[in-house]
Amino acid sequence: MTNSFLDNHEVVEMSSAKVCRILKQRIQSGQLKPGVRLVRRTIANDLDVSPIPVIEALYKLEKEGLVEHVPMQGARVKRLTMEQVRNDLVLREAIESQCARLLAAARLSSSQINQLSARADELDKMMSRHEPNFQPGMKAHAEFHLALAQQTGFPILVEELRKIWSRRFMQLAWIHSALVPVPRDWHRRLIKAIASHDIQKADVAARLHVCRNPAEQETVMRGLEKIVAKLQADARETRLPCPN
Ligand SMILES: [Zn+2]
Repeated sequence: MTNSFLDNHEVVEMSSAKVCRILKQRIQSGQLKPGVRLVRRTIANDLDVSPIPVIEALYKLEKEGLVEHVPMQGARVKRLTMEQVRNDLVLREAIESQCARLLAAARLSSSQINQLSARADELDKMMSRHEPNFQPGMKAHAEFHLALAQQTGFPILVEELRKIWSRRFMQLAWIHSALVPVPRDWHRRLIKAIASHDIQKADVAARLHVCRNPAEQETVMRGLEKIVAKLQADARETRLPCPN
């Protein structure tokens, strides 16, 4: 690949971003399932790039929690465990409740609240349709919660929340929101609590939004355990290609 405006380092950087984007999309869509080997040479040939950007992309995806490196075997799509699911849940609760507290204290303008309410209504409508293809819904759901984090003005909250949403857990959560339905105004309620400017109320609403009530959470966790067990069994059955 040659480009007179870019030096070699910049070309590698661009290719690694492209490889990263493609692999991420394939992992998040379920095309590449947990446990599947990610063979450097095969990926490089497949995407018509050199192995260096592939190595960089795999390293970046490992930092985001989508890929893991296994000694003597190389990289593979990270296998999902209930420990990860619980860790992501507690981290999401901590970040999103802090976002709600900051936004309630920030006293957003009425036009900002109106915009967030309109987005909440759109998302609630989408969730209530229970589309069999959950990808667009999951994307809209993630974008809504990241938009709330962005409004706080703390990039670290957005960055860390993006990693959580990026992990497969949220796909499972979306599937499960169809099994344990949420109220039709689920996101509108959250915005209403933030708009009340009552920090405590916003905090409680955000925690309930993430974790549901204890009985619902138990049902969701039991359902997730089944999904995780199935994914783990599928990963064990996957035939591994030759080492990279
Ligand atoms: Zn939500």
